[in-house]
Parts: sequence; C-alpha cells; structure tokens
Amino acid sequence: MGVLSFLSLGVRFEANVEALNMVEVSGNYARHRRVPYIITEGGKPKVVYVPAVSGESLAHAYQELLAEEAKSLNLPVCSYCSAGEFLKSMDEEHASEKFGGKVPKLSQRAKKEELIRVVNEIEAGIVRGCVVEDVGGFLYAEKPPVKRTSRFAVSYALPIKSMATYATLEPQLHARHARTTGERREGAAEQMIYYVESGTAIYAFTFNLDLAGIGVSSYSGAQLVEDVGKRRLAAVRALYRMLSSQGFGAKLSRFFPVGGIVSLVATLTERPFTVTSPIYDDFATSTRQRLERVKATFGEKALYFEMGAEGYRTPEDVLSAVIEALKQEGTV
Ligand SMILES: [Zn+2]
Repeated sequence: MGVLSFLSLGVRFEANVEALNMVEVSGNYARHRRVPYIITEGGKPKVVYVPAVSGESLAHAYQELLAEEAKSLNLPVCSYCSAGEFLKSMDEEHASEKFGGKVPKLSQRAKKEELIRVVNEIEAGIVRGCVVEDVGGFLYAEKPPVKRTSRFAVSYALPIKSMATYATLEPQLHARHARTTGERREGAAEQMIYYVESGTAIYAFTFNLDLAGIGVSSYSGAQLVEDVGKRRLAAVRALYRMLSSQGFGAKLSRFFPVGGIVSLVATLTERPFTVTSPIYDDFATSTRQRLERVKATFGEKALYFEMGAEGYRTPEDVLSAVIEALKQEGTV
C-alpha cells in the first residue's frame, strides 16, 4: 500500500459585501471581476454573469502564507518570495541567489547528456533554495528553460449553482475628504466621491495539494531535499491559515467579507483524487460515494473529513484532523 499524500478540499464560504477581486478602475469606478456561468433555468441552459474571485488571487494568498509558515519552521525561502513577489526564478537574475550568483549554464556544443544534467541542477538548486518555488512551481525562461509544475492547484471561487442567480454586484458610494480647517490647497475639492463594486454570494472553490511531489524532481522523480516532511507540513499549515484567517483576496481593509466558511470537505488519498466541486449542493455525498468506489476498485487507503459530521464542527476541526492523520501516516 502507498502513503496518504494527496489532499483535496472543497470549500463553501458566504461573503457579503466583498471586494475580494477587482479588475479595473475606470475614473472613480472600481469594477469587480465577473465571469460567464452556465445555469439551468426551466430545463434550459442559460449564461449569467456572476461575481468571481480568481484562482490567481487565492494562489497569491496561499503562497504568502506558505512563505511565512516555511520560515517559522526554519525552511529556506528566497528574498523575492519572502517579500510576496512571486516572480519566481523566471530568469538568471531572479535565480542567481539560489546558486550563489552562478546559475549552471550550457556549453556552446552541449549534447543531450549535458542538457539533462544542467536542467536537473537548475531545478534542484531552486527547489533547495526556496520552499515557495518547490511547492508553487516556476518557469525559468533562459537557456535551457526549466519548468516545475505547481504542486497545488486552486480553482476560481464561484457562486454555488443553486443560488447563482441571487449573487449580486452593486456599486457602493464612498467619499474621500479634503481638509476643512487650517491650510487648504488651492483648487482642492472638498470631497471626492468614488464607487467600489461589491459582490455578495455563497462562493465555492476547490484546492488540491500533491504532497508527494514536494521536494521531488519533476524530471527524474529523485528526492532533492532532506527536509521533505517539514516542507509538506508547511504546505498544509499554510492552507490551514488561509482558511482559518480568511486572509485571501483584495481590499480586505474596508471590505472584509461579512460571513465565513459554511461547508468544508477534505479527502486524503494515495493517488490524485479531487473532491466533487462544491458548486453542487450534493458535493459532500457525491465525494464520499466516489471515494468509496476508488477505494474498492484500486484497493487503496483513503480518508474523508466533513465539517458538521463526526465531531468536526469547525473548519479548524477538519484541518487539524487532516494534519493529525498525515502525522500518523508519516507523510509530514
Ligand atoms: Zn522563491
């Protein structure tokens, strides 16, 4: 039997009056991201435009928390990722700190063996030097190009199907005031009005984390670091913090969403398995049934966790149980 190392989460959260993902400011109007969405009405498919939060926005928050968790476990994080600038090792300049200034290069007449060796050296150096790039992947676009696929995948957050038509976008009027006493700048308006489009919906998103791929080469499958278990723990803890703090999305300073996580399902499997999308109302039952089928067909281990069932009252209960199971399994 293999080891439980693939984590999949389905999350539903209620967010009232949020500005988690703004796409453009035109004059004094800041617009919320919206996407086309297929729903069925009266038995017929129909496209509606709904508020959405991009996967990129969620991934950014996750990687910021990953940098923090990694550092708290004394794991390496490069200076760009530490600063929350996820340019990654995209070129020689950004990769150089992982190699003490000397990124491996191909010679003029490089043969296939040398190409394989240099690609492996570059990937290994970057993975060793930065946990965020180990888990979140990178694209080194030089000669030779080196690509590492992200070990986590996250969907857009979209309104759940059964209530998509109730999801709303409304502009809110705000005002910035100029000073009314003391010195006043000539020509300054007393106040400036602006509008922020705010969304309200029950959103759903899916998050997958392939713990088996952390600290392991994309090319050879070889283990590249000694502290694999600790790196995996940092990756799960970052996800825990992200959900527990609700610290994702933009404009939180004045548009912190009013609401919270209303459902959460998690699975731990040996091989990749994705929970049923939480946009569907039966996602928990469907996930459990699918998981039972996979277990029976492949003879593999699998664990299922659901908020609201078996003593898991809060999202933290579920995530703590996931970490506990991974510790017992020896994965982290
Ligand atoms: Zn980095």
